[in-house]
Formats: sequence, structure tokens, C-alpha cells
Amino acid sequence: MTEQVVVLGSTGSIGQSTLDVIARNKSAFHVFALVAGTNVERLLQQCITHQPKFVVLSDEVHARVFETRLKTASMPFKPEVLYGVEAMQAMASHASVDIVMAAIVGAAGLLPTLSAVEAGKKVLLANKEALVMSGQLFMDKVRKHNATLLPIDSEHNAIYQCLPNCLQQNSQGNIADVGISKILLTGSGGPFLTRALDTLEQVTVREAVTHPNWSMGQKISVDSATMMNKGLEFIEAKWLFNCQVDDIEVVIHPQSMIHSMVQYKDGSVIAQLGQPDMRTPIAYGLAYPNRIDAGVAPIDFSTLMNFSFTKPDFERYPNLRLAMEACKVGQAATTTVNAANEVAVAAFLREQIGFCDIYRVNAESLSRQSMTETDSLDAILALDAQARRIALNVIEELR
Ligand code: NAD
Ligand code: MG
Repeated sequence: MTEQVVVLGSTGSIGQSTLDVIARNKSAFHVFALVAGTNVERLLQQCITHQPKFVVLSDEVHARVFETRLKTASMPFKPEVLYGVEAMQAMASHASVDIVMAAIVGAAGLLPTLSAVEAGKKVLLANKEALVMSGQLFMDKVRKHNATLLPIDSEHNAIYQCLPNCLQQNSQGNIADVGISKILLTGSGGPFLTRALDTLEQVTVREAVTHPNWSMGQKISVDSATMMNKGLEFIEAKWLFNCQVDDIEVVIHPQSMIHSMVQYKDGSVIAQLGQPDMRTPIAYGLAYPNRIDAGVAPIDFSTLMNFSFTKPDFERYPNLRLAMEACKVGQAATTTVNAANEVAVAAFLREQIGFCDIYRVNAESLSRQSMTETDSLDAILALDAQARRIALNVIEELR
């Protein structure tokens, strides 16, 4: 049977890797709908290759431009063109759809991803910000609607692969009950692992988005440089694996060949290894519980360099500490950190603030936020909006 797939964020780094894996496994998967922001040309090429029934763009202006381009494109079947969040939600929950790849970046992915969850789909979660901002609510919906949630973030995908089958099937299961003593979340340390601390203020956008091991979108590349990415992943792991803050340890592993590990009470540590190529976790998610070709070369152990491991230095990575502390405080704090960070990174990418200002914006926003309830989607969205306003004010003060 061919499974029907919706790719949310198809023109991004994860979206393109997803389409590459689908193209290698055409008899198993077909693209039902492509959802993207504004990259009309790339979306058009993807339509020509994958022949989806629907495409959704973020707004009407880009949808009209896309329709004009579609008129002159040579393809046997033209997709219906839609735009806006409601259309994204309709695609993610469409009765004909089996699998939804959630790969929109940032909070913009929350509503379409939740629609997929509420429709009980198999949801491949790359969009970590959606889970970080809504944590308990998101996981409650997964359980209530019996959705299958598969982590695509390489670390969480690795951890998932290292879990016993009974825990994979039960997101409410207790890690201690199956003998897990620690979840070891690895991170490369990003491009500034050894850069002199007193030069970090001068980091340029180009330096920050150049990751040593992974090729990724701009926002997550900056997050990797500040290690806020690992902080968001720490929060993500807490929710995905139903564990406590003390159950998770961050380990710096600059080679990015081990993608994370699970330590058991009996002394065993199970690790997942692979090339730093997102097509591996994407293929795992698409075919779960089977395995398919991802186009990724196997590891050649005869040429593999030495592995090294260290503890994270919080002086170098204050954003990591901030996110871990927010995780201890609770949902309002993590929603706030996530929102402030999105605003701060966008300002850094526009060269409005410096690299170290990202931390200043995040920390100051957290301290100014009034921590209200997070028991409903409306409350979470209000908190997120409030945090963004605060972060913009802090940025104005810094400039
Ligand atoms: P990217 O910037 O390359 O792509 C983002 C995608 O989202 C694009 O298709 C863009 O058009 C779309 N988008 C942005 N705003 C939108 C909106 N308002 N409406 C609809 N679509 C919108 O980002 P990426 O690197 O592919 O990352 C995507 C997500 O996956 C992020 O949450 C990231 O943290 C996560 N992730 C990425 C990687 C990676 O290797 N790239 C690894 C782990 C997790
Ligand atoms: Mg990751």
C-alpha cells in the first residue's frame, strides 16, 4: 500500500531531505500535499517532481504568484493552490493522509502539527519548537487522539531507537520501570566550541550559520551555535520520553557520529550511530517499524576518527543553562524562552543585535514575563505573544 504524506515545510532543509527519501521509495510513499512559506520556485520544482494534489503557501500574495508560475509549468496534473494556516491544518488532518512530516520552523508550525495530532495521524516531529511551546497539551493530545508520534530530531530519534519496544509503544511509560538510569543527549558544541570566549561578541551571521557537521536552516544553525538548540532539545526530550530534568544529561561530542545514548541500570549504554545526515531519522520515521533506503552512506569504521566527549561549559553556552533552568520552572518559562529566542535569533539574522545579545534578550524576557497559566491552547498562544512583545522591547533597548 502506498502511504499518503503531507510535508509541512517542504522547501526547508528537513522538507527537502524528506522528499529525497520519498523519491527513493516511490512505491511506499506518495506526496499528497506540500506546505511551504514563500519559496515559490523551489515549491514549483517539488510539484513537478512529486505531483501532489494540493499545495499550501503561507499567504495569498505568494499563492497568486505561485498560480501564475503554475500556468506555464509543464506537468500532466496541476495541484490545487491554497494558502493560510487553516488550509495547512486541513491538509494535516485530511482523511486521505497517513503521515504528516512536521518541519515548519518555529511556532508557526504549532497549529498544523496539532491538527495532525488531533486527527490521529502518524506525525513525524522535526518542529521541536511546537512541542517546547505547548509540552503537556501537545502530549495529552497525542494520547487522547491515539496519534503515533515519531521524533525526527536526530538526538531524539536516536534515543527512541535505543528504547525498549514497550516504551516506544507507550509515551506514558516510565523510563525507570524498564531500567533506564539516564538519557544522554549529545551535541556537537557547534562552530564556537573552541573559539576564545572574549571574541564571541564579534561573531558574524555567516560564522554563526556555518555548522561544522550538519547542513540546516538558518534558525536552527544559530541555535546550534548558542546551544539554545540543545536547550530546546532538553525540553523536547523531557516531554517525548516522559522523564524528569535529572534524568537527562547533555554530553558534548564534537564528531556528531553518536546521535545520543540511553544508559541502563545494569551498566549498559546503547547508542545510535550514523552519518550526520537527517535522511536517516526521516527514513526511520517514514517506514517505522521497518527500515528503508535513505541514500545515506554506511559508516566506514576503518577511517573513523577518534570520538571525544566533554561536559558543556555554561559560560560558553549560557542559553543552554537558561533553557535547562526554564525546564525546571515549568511550561510558562519554556514557552517564554522559546518565543523570546525566536525573536532574538531573527533580530540577530537581520544584524540588529549581536551574537551574545541573543542570551541577553532571552534571559531578560524570562525575568520580565509574568508566569500565567498554560492550561489551554489560547493561554499558551497568549503567553507566546506576550513573550514576543517583551523580547522586541528588550531588543529596542539594546540597540
Ligand atoms: P528551514 O528554515 O530550512 O525550513 C523551514 C520551512 O518552514 C520552510 O519550508 C519554510 O517555507 C517553512 N515555513 C516557515 N515559516 C512558515 C509559515 N509561517 N508557514 C508555512 N511554512 C513556513 O528549517 P529546517 O532546518 O528545515 O528546520 C525545520 C524544523 O526542523 C525546525 O523546527 C528545526 O528545529 C527542526 N530540525 C531541523 C534539523 C535540520 O537538520 N535542519 C534537525 C533537527 C530538527
Ligand atoms: Mg537535533
